[in-house]
Amino acid sequence: MNYLSTRGRAPEESLSSALLAGLAPDGGLYMPVRLPVMEPGDFADCHDMTAVGERLLQAFFEGDALEPHLPEICEQAFAVSAPLVPMRGPGDYCLELFHGPTAAFKDFAARFLAACLAVLHDGGDTDPLNILVATSGDTGSAVASAFDGRSGFRVIILYPDGGVSSRQAHCLECWGENVHAFRVAGSFDDCQKMVKTILAEGVGRPVRFTSANSISLGRLLPQLVYYAEAALTHWRACGRRLNFIVPAGNLGNALGCVMARRTGLPIGDIHLACNANATLPDYFAGQAYHPRPGQRTLANAMDVGAPSNFERLRHLYGSDERLRQSVSANSVDDEGIASVIRNAPDRYGWIPCPHTACALQALEMFRDKGDDRDWAVVATAHAAKFDEIIQNITGRRPTPPPGLADCLERPRRWEHIAADSGQLKQRLRDLHT
Ligand SMILES: *Cc1c(COP(=O)(O)O)cnc(C)c1O
Repeated sequence: MNYLSTRGRAPEESLSSALLAGLAPDGGLYMPVRLPVMEPGDFADCHDMTAVGERLLQAFFEGDALEPHLPEICEQAFAVSAPLVPMRGPGDYCLELFHGPTAAFKDFAARFLAACLAVLHDGGDTDPLNILVATSGDTGSAVASAFDGRSGFRVIILYPDGGVSSRQAHCLECWGENVHAFRVAGSFDDCQKMVKTILAEGVGRPVRFTSANSISLGRLLPQLVYYAEAALTHWRACGRRLNFIVPAGNLGNALGCVMARRTGLPIGDIHLACNANATLPDYFAGQAYHPRPGQRTLANAMDVGAPSNFERLRHLYGSDERLRQSVSANSVDDEGIASVIRNAPDRYGWIPCPHTACALQALEMFRDKGDDRDWAVVATAHAAKFDEIIQNITGRRPTPPPGLADCLERPRRWEHIAADSGQLKQRLRDLHT
């Protein structure tokens, strides 16, 4: 399988090259040249997520240097479970993606990417490969956890000082020697700009960099797998397609669902639940696509006004009309999020994180309209990661699950830095010597 750029002005690349490059040279994002066509019967003997992942991703890895390593890569990425749990209402399900070491769905993708890069960057290299990540919360901790202690890799995390919850900050700052956490005196956009500058210009020494942001192909591919597994489980149990409500920010997670459906998995409708950043809901309501600056909300991992994977979604459908027929979206403001969280203990018997709350709000909207189909709400993080918000709304402080509890017990280490790529370059040169 080869990979082409969404902008069509760059040569096709192998999976490994596309994965290492991040962005295509024409500024586009890499996509497979075609999607494999599969059906549920093709997965008859796949009884866990690792096996589903191997079968599904086989075609995407075909012919690449990584192909013989696919089984071990899947084992590392999909050892964590993603249970499809029935909720109280008939036809209501929750796909729980928060059982990984940093309690958010990004653990799957980060572990998959780390396993791929560990294969590609092996062989007595003395210089570490530097993984640059700008994060507004959950990406950085997932990537740090996945690369923590892996020789040959150094992780550089940039995040806005004061812009993440204190438990999120702890999860960025509690790792070993090869993880460097930088609190940037600036916004998330500043952090992203610094990453882009370093990737484009380097640091004036032969130091190698790659990125682990949401456009990375190594993060997109594993995100098809939990949707495939959940849809197959449901299909085998009752012969019906499962519909999904996905909390969306940069659209990476939802794109995994859309691509899994396109390969032939038994997935019905896909709905994007957004916070007050309404770029996607406005577009799906018929307005022209209008990216804008992100605004801060209670669901901070979705504070995105220019979703980086939109270009891939549009590429997949070819025209706005077809795309609008295939996916829908709504926007939930902070009041709506707070109200879902406040009512959740009575209504659901558990407390969602603010991102998951957006999806629950969409489910309530569908049910109020009389929709009685099977819907899975995607729970993207554990509520305990956002304990201050949850405590303000419900008066209770959620208990961290085991992985997160481990993070919170470890000591923290970070550096302050200005929102200035010149300073960061200097610091990275220092690390190198
Ligand atoms: C990253 C994140 C999202 C948004 O996912 P995208 O792939 O950027 O759309 C939603 N919820 C949580 C908890 C996240 O960490």
